[in-house]
Amino acid sequence: MAIKVCKFGGTSMADGNIIKSVKKIIESDPERKYIVVSAPGKRYSGDTKVTDLLYACYKSLTENGVCAAGFAPVRARFESLVRELNMNIDIDDVLDATEKRIDEEKSEDFTASRGEYLCAWVVSKVLGAKFIDSENVVYFKENGKLDGERTYKAIKEACADCELAVFPGFYGQDINGKVKTFSRGGSDISGAIVARAMQASLYENWTDVSGFLACDPRIVDSPKPIKKLSYKELRELSYMGANVLHSDSIFPVRKANIPIQIKNTFRPQDEGTSILPSSRYMPAGNTVTGVAGKKNFTVIFIEKSLMNAEIGFIAKVLEVLARENISVEHIPSGIDTMSLVIASEQLTDFKLQRIIEGIQTEVSPDTVRIIENIALIATVGQGMSSSVGTSARLFNAIAAANINIKMIDQGSSEMNIIVGVKNDDYEKCIRAIYSEFFTSAPCE
Ligand code: ASP
Repeated sequence: MAIKVCKFGGTSMADGNIIKSVKKIIESDPERKYIVVSAPGKRYSGDTKVTDLLYACYKSLTENGVCAAGFAPVRARFESLVRELNMNIDIDDVLDATEKRIDEEKSEDFTASRGEYLCAWVVSKVLGAKFIDSENVVYFKENGKLDGERTYKAIKEACADCELAVFPGFYGQDINGKVKTFSRGGSDISGAIVARAMQASLYENWTDVSGFLACDPRIVDSPKPIKKLSYKELRELSYMGANVLHSDSIFPVRKANIPIQIKNTFRPQDEGTSILPSSRYMPAGNTVTGVAGKKNFTVIFIEKSLMNAEIGFIAKVLEVLARENISVEHIPSGIDTMSLVIASEQLTDFKLQRIIEGIQTEVSPDTVRIIENIALIATVGQGMSSSVGTSARLFNAIAAANINIKMIDQGSSEMNIIVGVKNDDYEKCIRAIYSEFFTSAPCE
């Protein structure tokens, strides 16, 4: 029988009643065998996610030496969730043991991981499934990256004797045997890891939206849903801020060609978005799949006559940035010019000054100019590379909206065109691009 791995996000775990609907979803399809869960999320706007309560709990542990005060709201949250389930689950001992271990471990990652741990424990009781603690099956290497080989083997072994299992997302074990978390939202990665280990036919990611939309619904009213995306398009869109799925979740499943299906726990009848390996993906009629972006970048513009003939010019510039531990998002360049696009949050005034001085010393440019408050907008579509005139339509639409483009970068895969505009023009520019590619053309 085909196997599906299902990951349920925080809002799908927010309270006992929602967990009852999750149980129905899982039980309605016998292929749904391996379940990965996040910590309970917000129940209403203004509520606090359990993971955030746990970060605050760790803070209170560092201040008071014990976590009791900080752990109290987490305890209350799980007690009420279990009450709502109305199922004779006794969580008190598990909560006591968890509190004790938080005090002993004195680790931020360990504390933050307990939302997933407790939630998976509860869900395993609800489903009558095996609870597999990710601490014992997900391993990190010394460099902080996943130890795939060891992890996939351990997950397979742990699942060998069971028909239905629940894993906590978000964490694993480092080389010192200590619990280590992924970055925020990392349960999506855990789900992909389990899917890879179990060679699932599908990785279902259950969230609170019916898949990806062609652009941010806070900017455009009811944008069109995206029914199909390729892995590559997903990477580009998620990296640029379309945050339905953690952008790193693609790596474990990509090698095994496992498709991902985004589904909505609150509207399971909706089709959602299929994310497919590029080999199985045929771009639909529309050349553009989606538009996403982020604000607050700084551009360092460098000009020097005959730059193109100077061997090692770019390497020297990048060396200056590496010394300051700065990562660069894009490097659009011309014959005598190059720009470095950097997320502004990485740059203090002091660092920026040192970078400029470093560039002046290393490559003696004619000009170095700083342009701040830049937003980047990516127009993404695998079909773009084979269709004539997409960039002309894009730039015309931006010009017609009277927006000045500060920078252009076309990824070498020709599946995205990134423009830099002033932060203030960000929303207007997204609307202009959306309306050009989505309001007249049919969207598949
Ligand atoms: N609970 C963690 C977070 O809030 C991980 C996750 O939800 O995926 O970031």
